[in-house]
Formats: sequence, structure tokens, C-alpha cells
Amino acid sequence: MQLEKLRKILTENGEPKFRLSQIQKAIYQDGVSDFSEISTISKNLREQLEKEMKILSFEVEKVLVSKDEKSLKALLKLADGNKIESVLLSPVENKWSVCISSQVGCPLNCGFCATGKSGFQRNLTAEEISDQVLFWRQYLKKQGTVNSDQEKNPPYPSASATWQKQNLLIKERGVISNIVYMGMGEPFLNWEEVKRSLRDLIDKDLFAFGSRSISVSTAGIPEGIKNLAEEFPQINLAISLHFATDEKRSQFMPINRKYNLEELKKALKDYFSKTNRQVFVEYVMLSGINDSEEDAYALSTYLKSIGNRQLLHVNLIAYNETGKELKASSGNKTHLFRDYLERGGMSVTIRKSLGQEVEGACGQLAGK
Ligand code: SAH
Repeated sequence: MQLEKLRKILTENGEPKFRLSQIQKAIYQDGVSDFSEISTISKNLREQLEKEMKILSFEVEKVLVSKDEKSLKALLKLADGNKIESVLLSPVENKWSVCISSQVGCPLNCGFCATGKSGFQRNLTAEEISDQVLFWRQYLKKQGTVNSDQEKNPPYPSASATWQKQNLLIKERGVISNIVYMGMGEPFLNWEEVKRSLRDLIDKDLFAFGSRSISVSTAGIPEGIKNLAEEFPQINLAISLHFATDEKRSQFMPINRKYNLEELKKALKDYFSKTNRQVFVEYVMLSGINDSEEDAYALSTYLKSIGNRQLLHVNLIAYNETGKELKASSGNKTHLFRDYLERGGMSVTIRKSLGQEVEGACGQLAGK
């Protein structure tokens, strides 16, 4: 939300100081989606705000819901017509994770990811980033308190499941407990705005999330890793590693030609010395490409060479198909790979994929 504008209007009106807090609380914590619903302020002010401001910086084009209703994807249209996607996932009953985008498109063009295919359009503003969380908060709230009018006219067109059924299910399903910067874009190439959005997310007067419930994922930008360590040491860091030799990594992730594995290692060593916090290493399993015993050996060797092995946690991710060329590794291969790493003393989890059905899984976000 345009907080600056809100502040300006309140000051110009000569409103008392607490007015801002009242409105912030209603919007950020209670998930109110319309100024007219804020009963703690005067009718005049409500009407003025409604006329002069918008709560969200985008229009909601559609929301796709998977059959099991654990994955939802929103297509959001920004003021300049660009579109982004934002995902809501429930990996654990009663808990929702929001996967947010930080750029329109992505300049990195990783060979296995749909986002980079359509190129890079622009950075998102801090407001456009954090509004994605605001939107999902509103969405969950609307579904939890649906009235009979809304039952007939759901606020957003939905691709599957009836509105009523969704409502009943989601109503019992709790709140947003995690935010991950794993949508479209590379957060560390938009650091200034990402930083402002992180501040808003942990601001006690705004979203009030705990730092430890937020994760930022990077394809490996050393400067960004350093900034995160210095400015938000409590926020989780995830590294999209995927390949443990420069040859393979550069082939699929062009960013590795600029910052190779050695540079990344230095950045991680520095991160550990500053934060002493756990880092998540993401490794997408690609059949015949990075899933052999030799690859497991290379990964294990690389990770050990960073030091602080107890602070590294490997997530093996199922590849979500984005084209015809690449295939996901079999379950069997993935288990063997995990076992190999574990024998070498690494801590490893095989992550199940959510969101495929709505094309809202990792790497499938293409803004369409
Ligand atoms: N640019 C950042 C943020 C994007 S996060 C980064 O690279 O970390 C998106 C995550 O999904 C990354 O870990 C990315 O490597 C992974 N990913 C991309 N395409 C994928 C696919 N097709 N299947 C599974 N994971 C994928």
C-alpha cells in the first residue's frame, strides 16, 4: 500500500497521530481489503481514502486453485500492464507459505526455469513486492468470512473448485506463517526494493512477521549475500546451487560465468562468519544431468570445502517440467542421491513439489 500517500493525507487533514496506526492495523494485520470496512475511522475519512487511494498496487486478474486446494496461484496485473505471479502454498496443514516475486521476468535465464524464458521487464517496487502478501492475507480473510452475497459472486474468478467449497476448506486452514522470495526474479538484483519490502514485512506496525519466517533465495549473487548477512542476519538464506561443477553450472546458469563456485564459496564462508546461521542449498534433480553418483560426490566435496557443514542443509527438489528437453530424476535416483550425501555426513531433505497443477511450482512462473 502507498504508505507515504496515506501519511500525507492524514497530515493534511490534521488527523491525530494514532489514526495512522488504526489504519495500518486494519490493513496489515486484520487483512481489510476496503477502506469502507475500517470501522474505527470516520465515514468522511473512509470515503476520502477510497476516492484518493488504493490498498493494492495491482489488479487481480485470476486465482487458480489446485484440486486439493493446497496450491493457489494469482496472476496480478501491475499499473503499467506488466503481469506477475504470486503463489500461496500449504505444505503443512493449517499453515500457508507465500511465494513472492521480486522482478517482472528475470534476467538470469537459467536453462531449467520458465521465468527467464520471456526475458526481464523491470524491477518490482517494494510496495509491489509486499502487496503480494497483503493480497493473500485479504484473500484468506475473505474466504474465511464469506457472506451469502459473496457466495453468489466470488471476488475473483476461480479456475477450479466451487467458491463455496474452497471457502469451507480454507476457513479452517489458518494463517500465513512463511514468506519465501522464490517467485519470479532474482531478489539480489533488486536489493534496494527488496530491502524495503523486508523492512515492511518485519515491521511490528505493519506485517509483523518474524525474521526467521522469511527466506530469500538467490542464484548466487555475492554482493546480495553480503548485504543480507549485514542487514538482516536473522532472515533465512537459500542458495539455488543445482550444479556442483563450474562446467555444468555455467551451462545451465549463465550467472555462474560471472560469479563461479569459488566466488560463491567465499560469499558463503563470509555469510557463516557473520551470522552463524543455517543456509539452505537448493538442488533441482535433473535426469541424466546432475543426478549421478559422480554429481553427488561433486556436491558433497564442494559443500565440505565451504566448511561449517552442520550449517548447510540440502533440499533436493523435484524438477517441474517447463519444456520438453529436461526430465525430472526418478524417485529411485533421488533416494540414491540423498543416501550418498547422507553417508558423507550432509543433512538432506527430499522436497515434495507443490503447485504443479496451477503451474505455480518453482520455475513454472511465467506471468501468463
Ligand atoms: N532467482 C532466485 C529466486 C527464484 S527462486 C533463485 O534462483 O533462487 C525459484 C527456485 O526454483 C530456484 O531455486 C530455482 O532454481 C528453482 N527452479 C527454477 N526452475 C525450476 C523447475 N523447473 N523445477 C524446479 N525448481 C525450479
